[in-house]
Amino acid sequence: MRRILVAGNWKMHGSLAMVDELISALVSGSSTDESADLAVFPPFPYLDRVRNLLQDTGIAWGGQTLNPVAQGAYTGEVSASMLLDLGCSMVLVGHSERRALFGESDEDVAVRFDAAHKSGLQPVLCVGETLEEREAGITEQVVGRQIDAVIGRYGIQAFAQAIVAYEPVWAIGTGKTASPDQAQAVHAFIRDKLSGADGIIGGQIRILYGGSVNGSNAADLFAQDDIDGGLVGGASLKAGEFLAIRDAAR
Ligand code: 13P
Repeated sequence: MRRILVAGNWKMHGSLAMVDELISALVSGSSTDESADLAVFPPFPYLDRVRNLLQDTGIAWGGQTLNPVAQGAYTGEVSASMLLDLGCSMVLVGHSERRALFGESDEDVAVRFDAAHKSGLQPVLCVGETLEEREAGITEQVVGRQIDAVIGRYGIQAFAQAIVAYEPVWAIGTGKTASPDQAQAVHAFIRDKLSGADGIIGGQIRILYGGSVNGSNAADLFAQDDIDGGLVGGASLKAGEFLAIRDAAR
C-alpha cells in the first residue's frame, strides 16, 4: 500500500515572516496519524528555520536542487551533505524549471539523482513533456527518455528509495491541470516502465502528479490507481489550500 505524499515546492518564494506563518499553520493543522505524508521544499536560505520549526512534527523537508559534487570551488552551489546537515530527507531533481531555465540536461539530472541517492537523500525525479511534445504525440517518448537517463547510467536499483513526480510543463503555474485520466495514463506508463525493470520497485514507488494541483482537483487526481500524491507549487504557499490538498487524500 503506497501512502499519499503531498509535497510543496515553494520555488523562489517566501520570507522569514512567511516561513514562520506558513509552517506554524501547517504544524497546527497536522497530527502524526494523518492519512497522507506532508513535505515542503523551501528555498535554501530558509531550510534552517524550517528545520527548527518542523523537527519532531512528522512533516518532512528537502532542497529544490543540489550540486552533485561533494565540495569545492562551485560558487553559489549547495551539496547533498549540506542538505543532510540541515535535516533534509529529500531533494527535487530535474524540475522542469531547472531543465528549461538553468540548462540541466537529462544527464545532468541523472548525475544529481545519483548524488542524492548515494548520499542518503531521497531523490524526487521530476519528469514531464511540454505542450509542443504532447501535441506531437511524443509524451511517452519524452518521459521514457527522462527516466531511462537514470536507469541507463545507474540501474533500476537507484529507484528503490526514490520518488517520481510527473509534471507536464503545460500544466505548471497555468491553472490548466491535466485531467485525472490524462495524468493516470502517464503515471501508468511510468509505473509499467519501472515494473518492467523491477516488479517490486515499480509496485512500491510513489509517483506524484504536479501541475496546478489545488484543493478542488486533488481528490479526483489522488483517486487514480497510479497517482500517489501531488507536487504542489502555487497552492503550497497557502496553508489552508495545502492542507485541503492533504485532506483530499482521505
Ligand atoms: P503549480 O502547482 O504552481 O502549477 O506548480 C507545480 C510545480 O511545478 C511543482 O513543482
